[in-house]
Amino acid sequence: MKDAAAKVKRAAAHPDRPGEKCQAPAASWRPVVDRARCEGKRDCVDVCPHKVFEVRTIDEADFAALSFFARLKVRAHGKQTAYTPNADQCRACGLCVVACPERAITLVRS
Ligand code: SF4
Ligand code: SF4
Repeated sequence: MKDAAAKVKRAAAHPDRPGEKCQAPAASWRPVVDRARCEGKRDCVDVCPHKVFEVRTIDEADFAALSFFARLKVRAHGKQTAYTPNADQCRACGLCVVACPERAITLVRS
């Protein structure tokens, strides 16, 4: 927990933090995960104040859609990847984007 709090603090101070600092109405923005980059290390889960993310085994269809090298990488990380089951709760704080060590998350307007 202490580690997660430190991650939030670091992300909040990041100069490249995009979005609207949690001022956006729910569902006006959403995070998009690049599965070819994601290594399933859960920083997004740790920093999101609205519980948008979960990390779990990649769906077969998503795995099959990856390039050969991305499939190797995803397999090397236990086939864990981030999904956004609560994307409609996103308030565009931007924390996940700057916290992700793989730069796998983009914040887009819905
Ligand atoms: S999207 Fe980024 S922070 Fe989230 S699990 Fe994947 S690599 Fe980690
Ligand atoms: S920008 Fe990222 S961390 Fe912030 S609310 Fe949306 S999904 Fe969660």
